[in-house]
Amino acid sequence: MGSKLSPLLANLFMSDFEDDAQKEKYFPRVWKRYVDDVFAPVKERYLDQTLEMLNSRHSSIKFTVEREENGKLPFLDLLLTRKEDRTLKFGIYRKPTSTDRYITSDSNHFGGQKQAAFHSMAHRLYNIPMENAEFAEEKEHIHKAAEVNGYEEGFVNKILQTHRRKQHRRMSTTLQPEREEIKRVSLPFYPKITNPIKATLKRQGLQVVHKSENTLRDLLYNLKDKVPPDDNSGIYRIPCQNCPSVYIGQTRRKVKVRLKEHKAAVDNGKISESSVAAHAISCDHVINWKEAKLIKNVRKASQLNAWESYFISNSQERLMNEDDPPVTSCLFGLTKLRVQ
Ligand SMILES: [Zn+2]
Repeated sequence: MGSKLSPLLANLFMSDFEDDAQKEKYFPRVWKRYVDDVFAPVKERYLDQTLEMLNSRHSSIKFTVEREENGKLPFLDLLLTRKEDRTLKFGIYRKPTSTDRYITSDSNHFGGQKQAAFHSMAHRLYNIPMENAEFAEEKEHIHKAAEVNGYEEGFVNKILQTHRRKQHRRMSTTLQPEREEIKRVSLPFYPKITNPIKATLKRQGLQVVHKSENTLRDLLYNLKDKVPPDDNSGIYRIPCQNCPSVYIGQTRRKVKVRLKEHKAAVDNGKISESSVAAHAISCDHVINWKEAKLIKNVRKASQLNAWESYFISNSQERLMNEDDPPVTSCLFGLTKLRVQ
């Protein structure tokens, strides 16, 4: 069950398998399957035949049996108990190894992620037809789990209330609440920045979802053998030694190659080839080559124009390349939010 496709393929295969097998004499009368787990009551004396019939149908399909013990049988996350009147009652089943550790309250996840485990437990609490004792026991368990993970009583009460109300609504009316189409926006999760944006977007009817960022990859990324800055491509800055003018440019090749070209243009007086040369020659200024360097490493060529415009728009300095104005956009105002 490793790949995302596995459950789908298992379901396809199993429905085909079932269509065929149910024509057989020993196929159980009740057969409830969830992906690869089946609940099926079988008379003790027919158990061997049933298993043999199921296992003889396909070389790669092997069923194993889990029998009830003292009238109890765990199935998925439920504990089924056979009552005296031969009907079933339901409880929640947790593996003996379950630790009830979820995302703790002091963790830096956003609220929705912290609530998720409790929402799912609350949903199950109100949707599995449990008897009073099992219901009370499970509710108590949810409260305990919240406490163990550092949550206040109010946190879990609020979640339980949401699900109780939903259940109440379902039971008192057949009308469905009107569903508006929800529009979502995906943003990375930086609480200080995304929370205010979230509130603004919410007023516009947009719901923010967070990208799950591959933090470990992000962390490790910088540890990979670092390319010396001169060998990178991106946005570079060349200052003048005699005045505050700077040149901001982009290159998709190694920045040291591009800087060499500018220098050659200056040395050879080719003002048409380089705004840096034009500045140096027309003002009779000396270029500060020592301070000329890459200011933003850009790996994707498609992002070069955007980054160049960003740096030029945000620059407070006088630019040598003022004559070829950058792309301006009111969106650049937003970029000031960026954490540098
Ligand atoms: Zn100058």
